[in-house]
Amino acid sequence: MKKPRVPHRIKSPRVVQELSRLAAGLAASGSRIEDAFWENRLAAKIHAQLRTGDDQNLEAVLDQLYDTDSAGYGEFIYAIEAAIECSVLTKEGHGYDVLMFAAPVLTWSRFSIPSGPVTESVLSDLRVQLQAHVLAADVQFVLADCLFSPDQLPRGYHLTHELASKLWTAAVAGQQDVHINPRQLAETGRFLSDTRYLLGAIAAPQGKPMFRWQEANGSSEDKIVGNSSGAKFSKQEILLAWQTQGTEALRPLFQGCAFELLIPDGFFSAWRMADRLARPYSMHATVDFLQSTLSISANRLRAVIAPFYDQWLEEYRISFTLKDRDEVLYGIVWALVGDEDENSDTVTQIETTLQECGIAHTTFLDTRFLLEYCEECGAPLFPNPEGEVVHAEFPEEGEVVQVHLH
Ligand SMILES: [Zn+2]
Repeated sequence: MKKPRVPHRIKSPRVVQELSRLAAGLAASGSRIEDAFWENRLAAKIHAQLRTGDDQNLEAVLDQLYDTDSAGYGEFIYAIEAAIECSVLTKEGHGYDVLMFAAPVLTWSRFSIPSGPVTESVLSDLRVQLQAHVLAADVQFVLADCLFSPDQLPRGYHLTHELASKLWTAAVAGQQDVHINPRQLAETGRFLSDTRYLLGAIAAPQGKPMFRWQEANGSSEDKIVGNSSGAKFSKQEILLAWQTQGTEALRPLFQGCAFELLIPDGFFSAWRMADRLARPYSMHATVDFLQSTLSISANRLRAVIAPFYDQWLEEYRISFTLKDRDEVLYGIVWALVGDEDENSDTVTQIETTLQECGIAHTTFLDTRFLLEYCEECGAPLFPNPEGEVVHAEFPEEGEVVQVHLH
């Protein structure tokens, strides 16, 4: 069972009805050709909604489908995301497939994690590495001159679409960078471990590959230029090359941080992947942090895992204590993402990750805890080995105490 949605106000019942009908039609379609029929109509209606500058009707359709038609709900999300991140643009009689992409970076630091404007020289190094290792040979592409924290990504569907349109247009026009006004960016929360995103857009001649992994080996239709060998690369090989070369390009930005590049991909797909992978990454970051700050090895630590509920299971909270003590030194939240629910094997994933981190002592509390936060600082409260929720208290004077990990 998935988490319930908080209902949204319906602005136009007729529009909501029609969009729900199209999504349900698509979900029940019996052929590829019928899919195309529903998809085209659905895309046109979604575009009209995005142009109104208001997400209410789209959200209301999701509410409705959530309760009545889970297959239609999935199709509708997919259709909204497609309408936001990709399109076909025409310039001087030539059609271009355009896509907003994201390149996520997982990072942690005891000091501060950078966000905001990216210097010209770092951008230009990133461009070289993206072109050489990630993107197909014949594409035009732009990068936004900003490193976005999760709080700084556009909020909601039409704002995301607005940014995508800006990036697409620049890519088709053959520009290199798109300037983001740093004063329009939200403040970034301070965490020990967090995600950063580079955003950009790719414009490829219609029907041609966008990413290197789409290129066929020596195929005549893909004109391989420059020093590209024409060899076919798997996504895994491309990721490794990007991690090696992209890391060097980003190093000047991430002084004093550990960081790991994920594979650049379509905006929504990259975002979801980052959300999933950020969880084990934070766990490793936390254990490294505890070991180095307390000067102890991981086998002196114990982890307490407990499920936290609102109406449904929302997240697991994991506390770290010394092996023989009950005081919670630090805590992290392992949120459910995507389709995960209480039937998913999340606890095993958490335990496996803890073992990878060298923590052999784990306690699972099979009790339903309610989502509770500190009334003063808003930090989540964490389970202690006695089964109570408490404030994590780091045993050291100084700044690091206030750094909450999310
Ligand atoms: Zn507090």
